[in-house]
Amino acid sequence: MKNLGTICVQGGYEPGNGEPRQIPIIQSTTFKYDSSETMGKLFDLEASGYFYSRLANPTCDHVAARICALEGGSAAMLTGSGQAANFYAVFNLAGCGDHVVCSSAIYGGTYNLFNVTMRRMGIDFTFVHPDCTNEELEAAFKPNTKAVFGETIANPALTVLDIERFANAAHAHGVPLIVDNTFPTPVNCRPIEWGCDIVTHATTKYMDGHGSTVGGCIVDSGRFDWMAHADKFPGFTTPDESYHGVVYAEKFGNEGAYINKCTAQLMRDLGSVCAPQTAFYIGLGLESLHLRMAQHCKNALAVAEHLQQHEKIAWVNYPGLPSSKSHALAEKYLPNGSCGVVSFGIKGGRDAAERFMSALKLAIIATHVADAHSCVLHPANATHRQLSDSELVDAGITPDLIRLSVGIEDIRDIIADLDQALERA
Ligand SMILES: *Cc1c(COP(=O)(O)O)cnc(C)c1O
Repeated sequence: MKNLGTICVQGGYEPGNGEPRQIPIIQSTTFKYDSSETMGKLFDLEASGYFYSRLANPTCDHVAARICALEGGSAAMLTGSGQAANFYAVFNLAGCGDHVVCSSAIYGGTYNLFNVTMRRMGIDFTFVHPDCTNEELEAAFKPNTKAVFGETIANPALTVLDIERFANAAHAHGVPLIVDNTFPTPVNCRPIEWGCDIVTHATTKYMDGHGSTVGGCIVDSGRFDWMAHADKFPGFTTPDESYHGVVYAEKFGNEGAYINKCTAQLMRDLGSVCAPQTAFYIGLGLESLHLRMAQHCKNALAVAEHLQQHEKIAWVNYPGLPSSKSHALAEKYLPNGSCGVVSFGIKGGRDAAERFMSALKLAIIATHVADAHSCVLHPANATHRQLSDSELVDAGITPDLIRLSVGIEDIRDIIADLDQALERA
């Protein structure tokens, strides 16, 4: 299977003769075996097979395999949310006493996870602006740095990460680059092709695409050489006593070490599983991802261009607009379109923004982005309300910023709705 549109529809699941055409929902906690010896081998990771759905479930595996194929990775796993995906992705590499370099323009929930909760676990973070100089990026690394993290298109700042530059910096320091690719999806950008090692997703957004399920995914490129950096990553290169002394990098190679370790240790102990029913919805969403992304991008560009020339609008930010600070990076990394999210400010600041938002009829106010329905949010008042004003600026969010997630409704109705609400702002 070669092309993306085909992988969206058929990737990760090939039914045999007489088997269901749609990915079956295996709604079962456990799996039956004839002998406890067989079962023991599964527990010891000596044989592969299903035994308990906290560790692996066929429905989830088919859907993870589809996302893995879309990203061009070697292995993947689903998680119960995007938050869990980013937590696991980092925690699989860094523990107490370690350090992570992170782009400051990231999703508010991820920022809080890193800056508050993971700091409490003894992990240190240095935040750098995605457009920082090479010298600033270099200066962020420490001897105990274990990973670099960024978002392809930051939610909601909409800055584009120079993936190649961040990957080169990470690799020069012998650590992997993790990229949250939620906003562009693999339809618009495949970070692994630019040197990224690990890709994460909130499948909650465009992958599900209909606002129906919270979920996440981690994809490993299989390219990071753990043995070559054995001193930094003993968790991959020395025996795991909690799993009968398995050495992940030896047993699973570079292709499988990361995801197997993440499943065997983190999913086993922390249990943020994706339900089979949820995985099914994600699989269904993926079948139209390529069509929906094209429509989201087309509609969003039309909205951005319309707002840009509107007299009541102070500024518009959309990676597809030549006026965007990230436009050059968008042309490099997102030549076919970026995402459906547009941010802008209204003349009259915070109050005008509130009046505008309540006047919208088609675009609803929701703490959600990136699904078929148009929706709108004021991050300073919602997703990013725990951030101080200076943290907001670092994250690329001004107090007047309105985040509009442009859906796939008819563009004429979307623009008419914006116009009537601007009229009342
Ligand atoms: C929404 C989002 C998350 C968190 O995902 P949840 O499924 O809500 O936990 C992480 N990263 C980005 C870029 C997001 O947009």
